[in-house]
Amino acid sequence: MMEFYRDTWAEIDLDAIKWNVEKTIEELDPSVALFAVVKANAYGHGDVQVARSALQAGAKGLAVAFLDEALKLRASGIDAPILVLGASRPEDAHLAAEHRISVTVHDEDWLSKVYLKKGLLLNIHIKCDTGMGRIGLKTKEELRHVAGQIDQSDSFVFEGIFTHFATADEPETNYVEKQLEHFQHLVNSLSVKPPFVHCSNSAATLRFKGAGCNTVRLGISMYGLTPSTDIAPLLPFQLKPAFSLKSKLVHVKKLKPGEKVSYGATYEASEYEWIGTLPIGYADGWIRKLEGQDVLIDGRRMPIVGRICMDQCMVRLPKEYKTGTLATLIGRQGNEEITMEEIAEKRETINYEIPCVITSRVPRVYIEKEKIISVANSLL
Ligand SMILES: *Cc1c(COP(=O)(O)O)cnc(C)c1O
Repeated sequence: MMEFYRDTWAEIDLDAIKWNVEKTIEELDPSVALFAVVKANAYGHGDVQVARSALQAGAKGLAVAFLDEALKLRASGIDAPILVLGASRPEDAHLAAEHRISVTVHDEDWLSKVYLKKGLLLNIHIKCDTGMGRIGLKTKEELRHVAGQIDQSDSFVFEGIFTHFATADEPETNYVEKQLEHFQHLVNSLSVKPPFVHCSNSAATLRFKGAGCNTVRLGISMYGLTPSTDIAPLLPFQLKPAFSLKSKLVHVKKLKPGEKVSYGATYEASEYEWIGTLPIGYADGWIRKLEGQDVLIDGRRMPIVGRICMDQCMVRLPKEYKTGTLATLIGRQGNEEITMEEIAEKRETINYEIPCVITSRVPRVYIEKEKIISVANSLL
């Protein structure tokens, strides 16, 4: 087990990941396969650990954004099917083939630039752009052309076809329905359908049970986070958040009225005040915009005061606390909770972004059955 020597860490509850996956599978028709989306180091949670837990909970495969992410999973011994959702370079296709990694074909010319040694097989999912406007084939003609190229080659295996919704997390469903109709029209134009047909992210998986496709791609809600606050009331079960962010007071002092805190000396004690220091700062992803945000200590909310530094920030305490006292920046203490959504709102962004931007300097501690089972520290 790896170690770490600082008093800030993220705890990843792997039982929560498994619960979210299992509950989602229960909601789906038994014939529907769930692919766990573990791109971006599993949304900051840790790709290998989350992938293993999701597979144990019944996921049939994994999806990532880039080939590098897939190669890392293979190098760590994960044998399950892996799909690269984003654009890969045609000149790297041999690497995907050698490691049995499925790639996405997103434009008409891509396959004509792929050269593979005889005997290598490349598994292909065709991406259709039905309204996301990002990557993908748009017309039946383009699709027929690519399907023909796959059919005529001994190196290519037509494994899947998919699209991605732009608004599945919004209450209004017109645009999703239009995209789905376009996708069905494209899929129905194929003379031979591939084994995996998929369109649903978390929002569409939970709201529309995979929208009639035989595979879903579950990202954000596997981590126990709602795809949007708008649709939180529509979710079929209570998600369990897996990520919490913790630290400890490393210094506690009493300020006299008029004494200042942090860069710019912008915070001034108005009376005798207890100030604690936490060893987390903007280089950990706890950015300066979070000045004023509460943290939980002793089950109570206490504000960050003064500017957040690169490696530290200060908290106003209602009384003296010992150094070593636990502080929860995201997560629960007693009856109080600071949710990912609270931090997202403060940062004027979405919950997805928050764990992704807690940097690799923060060790990830993996919890199963309330025990630490491993630690990932990118520094040691
Ligand atoms: C990231 C991503 C997903 C997962 O979306 P969530 O909203 O996190 O469930 C699914 N499909 C594609 C193509 C993606 O890029």
